Amino acid sequence: MNKVLILSGAGLSAESGIRTFRDSNGLWEEFDVMEVCSAEGFIKDRSKVLDFYDMRRRDIADKQPNAAHLMIAELKNAFPENIAVLTQNVDDLLERAECTDVIHLHGTLRDLRCESCGHIWDIGYGPVKGHICPQCRSGNVRHNVVMFHEPAPEYQTLYEKITECHKGLFVAIGTSGQVIDAGGIAKYFRFSVLNNRDPEPSMDYCFSKVIHRKATEAAPEIRKIILNFINSGELA
Ligand code: NAD
Ligand code: ZN
Repeated sequence: MNKVLILSGAGLSAESGIRTFRDSNGLWEEFDVMEVCSAEGFIKDRSKVLDFYDMRRRDIADKQPNAAHLMIAELKNAFPENIAVLTQNVDDLLERAECTDVIHLHGTLRDLRCESCGHIWDIGYGPVKGHICPQCRSGNVRHNVVMFHEPAPEYQTLYEKITECHKGLFVAIGTSGQVIDAGGIAKYFRFSVLNNRDPEPSMDYCFSKVIHRKATEAAPEIRKIILNFINSGELA
């Protein structure tokens, strides 16, 4: 069976109005990354970090999936055994596009996690304040998003999917490759396609094909490449 691994990043959701980290007008222009997105920052100022994720959660409440989310959902739902969908994104736009079995490598904004018993549950788009763990009643609860210098349990799934799909096609969409080394992953695959709006020379050379366009504009071409690969095992 011809297997495809799709890995997306913040660029996938940019055209839906969710800011990326590193672009101009990205979140890092407004916030100090190590203060609001790191294990150290959380120990130093817990409420500042919880407030930051409250803002992020509120921010995604009214956002809609774009053509690239819909393309991924359509293909995944049509070829559930061929395609694995993994994302670094913590928004729920792939789910809103009705994509099944999305693996969130860095957690999701809608979920809280109990620091006492590890239970994870969905609170929607509201603030963390006032929530207690439905399983053990602890008030020690936090966002379920992986921050810098924290373990990322789902990376195990990423390695498993790379092993499962490595003779196949790797498609990376909207990721700078600075958190997860997408360029390094590409080298394990027979074919690889990268779609980023902007050139990233240090990563681009690792891929068989690079598409420098916005994700929604690149979506029809990516769809064609994936369908062709599933049917023929070749890169169009
Ligand atoms: P990043 O911010 O480092 O890089 C974004 C990439 O997307 C860049 O390479 C840029 O060229 C590209 N891009 C921007 N707009 C695009 C568009 N319209 N179409 C195609 N490409 C576009 O993002 P990353 O690599 O995902 O960084 C990692 C971290 O950012 C992840 O840990 C993720 O959890 C977090 N993050 C997630 C969200 C979200 O859930 N939507 C938003 C911001 C940050
Ligand atoms: Zn608990």
